[in-house]
Amino acid sequence: MTDAELQRIRSIIETHIAETRSSLPYLAEESKAVEPNVSLGRLTRMEAISDKSVNEEIQRQAKARLEKLLAALDRLDKGVYGVCLRCSKEIPLGRLEIVPEAFVCVECASRPR
Ligand SMILES: [Zn+2]
Repeated sequence: MTDAELQRIRSIIETHIAETRSSLPYLAEESKAVEPNVSLGRLTRMEAISDKSVNEEIQRQAKARLEKLLAALDRLDKGVYGVCLRCSKEIPLGRLEIVPEAFVCVECASRPR
């Protein structure tokens, strides 16, 4: 990978990190405990609980993605970015542009462990 390509990937990763981070405080607020509230009807409260678990799942995925993105940035800093962690082949740039947090190539990702 050339320096220009690495630079481009770095900015893609940083954009994704910023986007994921900015979505987390909002989700944290939304997934606070649903307090019993006399002003809420029974159905509304059930809907609120259902929304809560959906939000928690979204938040969990966002956190997992953030960790992967940070790990990708770390590999970029260490100069080992873009190499498949399983077969050591270079991961095609096109894949990295779409999935910058990818740490295995498509072949390894689709192959059962
Ligand atoms: Zn591989």
